[in-house]
Amino acid sequence: MAHIAFFNFPAVGHVNPTLGLLNELVARGHRVTSTVTDHFVPAVEAAGAEAVRYESVFGDFYRSPYTAEALEGEGLRCLAEATSLADFVEKHYQDDKPDLIVHDFMAWGARFYASRHDIPTVRLFPTYGVHEKFNITEKYPLAKFTDAKVMEMIGKLAEVLPAFGLSPDPMAFFQDVAPHNIVFLPRDFHYEGDSFDERFVFAGPSLADRSAYQGSWQPASPDRPVLLISLGTAATGWPEFFRTAIEAFTGSEWDVVMAVGDHLDLAELGDVPPNFSVSRHVPQLDVLRHASLFVTHGGMNSTMESLYHGVPMVVIPQMNEQKANGMRVQELGLGRHLAADDTTADALRRAVREVAGSDETAAAVQRMQSALRAVDGPRVAADAVESCLTPAG
Ligand code: UDP
Repeated sequence: MAHIAFFNFPAVGHVNPTLGLLNELVARGHRVTSTVTDHFVPAVEAAGAEAVRYESVFGDFYRSPYTAEALEGEGLRCLAEATSLADFVEKHYQDDKPDLIVHDFMAWGARFYASRHDIPTVRLFPTYGVHEKFNITEKYPLAKFTDAKVMEMIGKLAEVLPAFGLSPDPMAFFQDVAPHNIVFLPRDFHYEGDSFDERFVFAGPSLADRSAYQGSWQPASPDRPVLLISLGTAATGWPEFFRTAIEAFTGSEWDVVMAVGDHLDLAELGDVPPNFSVSRHVPQLDVLRHASLFVTHGGMNSTMESLYHGVPMVVIPQMNEQKANGMRVQELGLGRHLAADDTTADALRRAVREVAGSDETAAAVQRMQSALRAVDGPRVAADAVESCLTPAG
């Protein structure tokens, strides 16, 4: 039995894809620990892992800033998170050194700690993988390496790296490609999927049952089609969108399940029509099991979960990475991309009608669903993790 330590990035969209893998490793008899904020303790414990609580720079969980200006500061916050996490685990794991570290690609603290103690690692991508010739941010940039706050972070990183036995060159840190990587997407969905070599394992969405801490959901009237609407958990902008959705689908043939998140004053919605059910959060996997269409911001998890349940999408991205997903959904015929600026009630209604009524879309979604279901994600990912354990581990 090995001690496998997970280091995650404290965001729902980063933790959720790892839960099936945690579960599988525990079922195989390993001792799995996972550094998490309070918010994620029920999720990792439901998966059978030991939660190691820490205080994150991001608070209970990460919420992404909506403006490009605010995004510039994200690198600094990531670095602060990484150094404080590395300090924390230095003490916490002092007499309990892990045999292997499995870490989110944004959990830089895991790389710091692993380097200092010479512990092998596996890198996780809940979104597109990165190798020497592929990085999605080249096509859909977030912050740029010329932005003032990014430059400040790079300067600080250069000072920090040698203390962990890493090269002082920050670009080498960013360009580093790990020998072992797990991508929670199917290769078919990934841009330039064939360019990824044997260092990468495509596990697809490795879904785990979340009912123990999320509850469950059943449709109110089984005969009416269900339309799920959600903009995910992280982005804080654009509460007006939900009023547009109400305008678009009031009195329609749809039973609309709308998850509005934490950043909206519910009173702002006005009267909620009878064919709408509005809540802050829903057990999304349960709703997708019954849904005919998903209007989504196009977070990678929502996109994968939708395809896994055979649900076509209208993707209205809020950030560049979601735009990459929306464009990919459209390119593969799995739904439609709709720009936020073009999202009037009328445009939304038309997009939903078009996607829901398309046989080609239904067929493409079904093909992708079959491909996703043909792969046992948690098993494939756990095999990849175990292959990195030394025989004595
Ligand atoms: N989610 C959920 N209920 C909600 C909203 C979101 O269970 O009401 C889950 C969803 O199933 C997915 C994750 O939260 O696993 C959101 O991740 P995604 O990558 O789609 O978007 P993000 O929130 O990171 O922008």
